[in-house]
Amino acid sequence: MHEECGVFGVWAPGSDVARMTCFGLQALQHRGQESAGIAVGDGRGVCVEKDLGLVTQVFDEASLSALKGKLAIGHVRYSTSGGSGAWELSQPHLASMGDVPFALAHNGTLTNTAQMRAHLDAWGVPLMAGTDSDLAAQLIAHITLETHHLRDGIARAMQHMRGAYAMVVCTADALYAFRDPYGIRPLCLGELPEGRGWVLSSETCGLDIVGAVPVREVAPGEIVRINEDGVLSSFGIEPKKRASCIFEYVYFARPDSVIDGQNVYASRQACGAMLAQEAPAQADLVLGVPDSGVPAALGFARESGIPYADGIVKNRYVGRTFIQPTQEMRQLGIRLKLNPLPDVIAGKRLVVIDDSIVRGNTSKKLVSMLRDAGAAEVHLRITSPEILWPCFYGIDTDTRDQLIAANLSLDEMREWIGADSLAFLSLEGLRASVSAVRHDGFCDACFTGAYPVQCGGQN
Ligand code: SF4
Repeated sequence: MHEECGVFGVWAPGSDVARMTCFGLQALQHRGQESAGIAVGDGRGVCVEKDLGLVTQVFDEASLSALKGKLAIGHVRYSTSGGSGAWELSQPHLASMGDVPFALAHNGTLTNTAQMRAHLDAWGVPLMAGTDSDLAAQLIAHITLETHHLRDGIARAMQHMRGAYAMVVCTADALYAFRDPYGIRPLCLGELPEGRGWVLSSETCGLDIVGAVPVREVAPGEIVRINEDGVLSSFGIEPKKRASCIFEYVYFARPDSVIDGQNVYASRQACGAMLAQEAPAQADLVLGVPDSGVPAALGFARESGIPYADGIVKNRYVGRTFIQPTQEMRQLGIRLKLNPLPDVIAGKRLVVIDDSIVRGNTSKKLVSMLRDAGAAEVHLRITSPEILWPCFYGIDTDTRDQLIAANLSLDEMREWIGADSLAFLSLEGLRASVSAVRHDGFCDACFTGAYPVQCGGQN
């Protein structure tokens, strides 16, 4: 599973906003590795620089120095299979309200794009990239021509948009952020020291890297506008029953981020401890599959009393830039990513902690790799429930027929993967592991099929 995007924004007149955004995007790089982009507002206009590749491949000293302004937004992208590798799909998207430009960056997926496209076609609005994010930008631009105020245009556009969206917008002199009424994808607000400005980020790790102090989450349905008058909050659409993605805690978010009051690292440790209670194993060592399996393995080890060991090494320098989301490249990615330590593993009964099983290919190769390295037994423990349904809200998952848990029983899965035993964390166990979260409304549709927002393809 891959997160599709990360967004960042900064309002800080007098600071190097492009460089700050570049740092913010590097902190959010785990959310998308296929393209990166920055848009800067300088009081007169908006300038966008974007390209395919990692943040450090897209931006260098010369390109950052050329991006001068008082506010900026940024975006990192991981595409779904439908639109990989095309430059025009990279963000931020540039749009204009008449001759007034703005740039938009989006994390999430809109589920009513056919309806939105029909509206825009009827209005005769040309589309640039044709993605849901481009549709949103054009919709906002068109409506704002009628409302004359961008905040009102965004609010009216939110009434037309369905699905998951955490968006940031940059005009020549104002920064906007808004979030869908369910709060599916994360977005937080931070403040720079000494009143230097404000920062928006998909995760708090993006605030930390530029020295901003987390202030709060952008609320579901809220529009935040930041300009020289400060931060102005209003609601574009009435909040619905909260449905924040619970998988952020399991896998997507960086472990040093805090989402809705819950530290991600602590939630992963708690998942591991809960697994040790729900599905104990007789073993000599506990191993975590890097990265997200490691804190969970430490939690499992502490709870079970079985020693933790670093037995799997991740090759950190094989970027996903050139690993396109095809089956062939996924297979290659598995071989490139992980390497076992035979000296640690040989002759040992292992409990191996991983975050999720989607198709099962990674788990199968992992178990076989550990047996080749001499493991006596491999007991696989997963810190999420079985993934039975695809995600329609900004995560690249497969269709149901490709999800192994939707097609095989637990024992059939164990046999196909080749593990000595296999167990998944219960949904109740996962919810209990994120007990510090300040709300109780999660999306858990990929485990339950209970989608908070209806969408065409879910059946
Ligand atoms: S379906 Fe799963 S991955 Fe998608 S938003 Fe809901 S919990 Fe997150």
